[in-house]
Amino acid sequence: MDFSSKLLENAVYEVSQLPGIGKRTALRLVLHLLKQPEQRTENLSNSLLDLRSKIQFCDNCHNISDTTTCEICANPKRDDALVCVVEDIRDVMAIENTGQFRGKYHVLGGKISPMEGIGPQNLKIGSLVDKVKKGVIKELIFALSSTMEGDTTNFYIFRQIEGLNVKTSTIARGIAVGDELEYADEVTLGRSILNRVPFEGSLRQD
Ligand SMILES: [Zn+2]
Repeated sequence: MDFSSKLLENAVYEVSQLPGIGKRTALRLVLHLLKQPEQRTENLSNSLLDLRSKIQFCDNCHNISDTTTCEICANPKRDDALVCVVEDIRDVMAIENTGQFRGKYHVLGGKISPMEGIGPQNLKIGSLVDKVKKGVIKELIFALSSTMEGDTTNFYIFRQIEGLNVKTSTIARGIAVGDELEYADEVTLGRSILNRVPFEGSLRQD
């Protein structure tokens, strides 16, 4: 792409670094912003800068939060004894949308993936095991997507807490293998949480 303006080229380059945005789309978006009042661009830039500089991760569940303890963890009506293990905030949002879960979450920040160089030490697994050892958690629900990485991660955590006094379950496999949790419809996902099965039982079925 030949640009007559270096300023335009730089802006297009930065926007095109976002996933799913090619150079042509980036150019269209940037030209769109140029036609809008300057305030729009300022608002966009400021919201992203604010996000980066002010965002926090909850001390307890590691979910993205505006405060050191997230709203879910701070809510006394939510059950401390029931913890749903998820990959990231998109899973939390999907499960919250079902309105079927009154426990708390533990956000791992990813899945074990040797291909991508992500090992257990790169995820928030240690703090989960520590929480289980403290004895407050009575049941862990594994809600990672049914991919090989998800299964590997579930199994790794299961081995870490085996023998400790905690029940483990997994959301019913109504969701097809390879489907990400975030794409499951709310009714199916809500039902999966209510009809969860013991984790060890799910292993034998596979
Ligand atoms: Zn939290």
